[in-house]
Amino acid sequence: MYDYVIVGAGFFGSVFARRMTDAGSKCLVIEKRSHIAGNCYTDNVDGIHVHQYGPHIFHTNDEGVWNFVNQFARFSRFSYRPKVNFRGRMLSFPINLTTLNQLWGVKTPQEAEQRLAAERVPIDAPANLEEWVLSQVGQEIYETFVYGYTKKQWGREPKELPSSIIRRLPIRLTWNDDYFNDRFCGIPEGGYTQLFKNLLSGIAVETDVDFLSDRDRFESRSKRIVYTGPLDRLFEYQLGAHDWRGLRFERQVIPVSDYQGIAAINYTDAETPYTRCVEHKHFDPVQSDHTVITHEYPADWKVGDEMYYPVNNDQGERLQQRYVDMLPDNYLIGGRLATYRYYDMHQVIASAMHLADKEITRRSGRILQIPKHASPTRR
Ligand code: UDP
Repeated sequence: MYDYVIVGAGFFGSVFARRMTDAGSKCLVIEKRSHIAGNCYTDNVDGIHVHQYGPHIFHTNDEGVWNFVNQFARFSRFSYRPKVNFRGRMLSFPINLTTLNQLWGVKTPQEAEQRLAAERVPIDAPANLEEWVLSQVGQEIYETFVYGYTKKQWGREPKELPSSIIRRLPIRLTWNDDYFNDRFCGIPEGGYTQLFKNLLSGIAVETDVDFLSDRDRFESRSKRIVYTGPLDRLFEYQLGAHDWRGLRFERQVIPVSDYQGIAAINYTDAETPYTRCVEHKHFDPVQSDHTVITHEYPADWKVGDEMYYPVNNDQGERLQQRYVDMLPDNYLIGGRLATYRYYDMHQVIASAMHLADKEITRRSGRILQIPKHASPTRR
């Protein structure tokens, strides 16, 4: 009998399994895919670590999370500084003084602020992504960096999307072009798959196992189920399917040592069918006379496709809540798929650590709190 059968070997399931195993629980991790590491999975292609499901840059402000992951990998000092290609013009991104210098020739924070003040569209209460960006930086920046990219990525007009999607990106009036503001940032040397191998070391893991095709057996073998897959699939889409955005990756091995000189270039016009071109060796540098690149094409999504971006509208939120209400008492959920949230890795890890801590407290409480009337019988 297991204490926990954990469905899914991504960050949520693997971190939970590690914490609970270290606390003395018996865990089994099962994974539908043929590999561990979820969408962080990195494969070794001709000596280059390739992020199979899109680039994953680790960043966090949470020292506890940073210390935790550093037990399982050494992190490089990589910091994400993508460039934008807008109709052939190379621009600095996210918006910073270099960008504004390239667009308008401004050279100081004061000049930039003056110019932005003139550009901003006065909108009192921005009601969507488009209005929010216009109110912050005006029409030219919106059209150059945001409109086309966002429309391609989400398959809808930016005025139909919430501003929360883009508010995570900084707008800086300094020369700092770092994508993230976090204190800690890096890429695990040796790739994410190796990090996951270390994280799951000594824990029973079965890949190529679909929980749903043998659910009764797993439920009967475990006190609790930690489910990290999508809830609509768990309940056989009884109330309907969630909506996601998909991605298609086109990978090429190119016989040059450096193709584009940087890890990622975003193509922000609406006409280019892909959103970005990623050159993997820049994440985890190696010397080689070839390189691997991936063009990322946003795609419509249908049931059965890989899930990338949850389309978090009100309807999706309501559906999610109804599925959550249907969960049996012995089920715990977490991670991007099960919670239908556009999470970063560090948020998933923090929530798995938190759930494990709660479980450890609950389990130790149950052992310590022997009810007064239940005096042990001796034979
Ligand atoms: N975005 C944009 N232009 C860019 C990059 C991002 O307009 O060149 C917007 C877009 O709406 C996107 C959001 O910012 O959905 C968040 O981007 P992020 O890079 O965080 O997305 P992810 O890396 O998760 O795909």
